[in-house]
Amino acid sequence: MDKIKKRIIRFNEERDWDQFHSPENLAKSIAIEAGELLECFQWNSAFSKNAVCEELADVMIYCMLLADKLEVDIEEIILDKIKKNEEKYPVDKCKGSSKKYTEI
Ligand SMILES: [Mg+2]
Repeated sequence: MDKIKKRIIRFNEERDWDQFHSPENLAKSIAIEAGELLECFQWNSAFSKNAVCEELADVMIYCMLLADKLEVDIEEIILDKIKKNEEKYPVDKCKGSSKKYTEI
């Protein structure tokens, strides 16, 4: 993760793009790229794995930039969230079920 984060930051520093990366702009960019990811599946279930991977990478890059901008460790916040999800969705009540935690 750290190697990737440094590579992303170097890419942006070389282009002086950090000036455009407010938390709000990065959050919007995540949603925009998520829309482009969905576009890969528009109209039918056939999709280009290469195109999906490119959009997935775009989403992840903006997620990493937002975490960096907020000065939080992305691995730490993901692990914290998984822990919360484990409490929300105990295995004995949720295994094999797609119900929301409010319905279990
Ligand atoms: Mg894209």
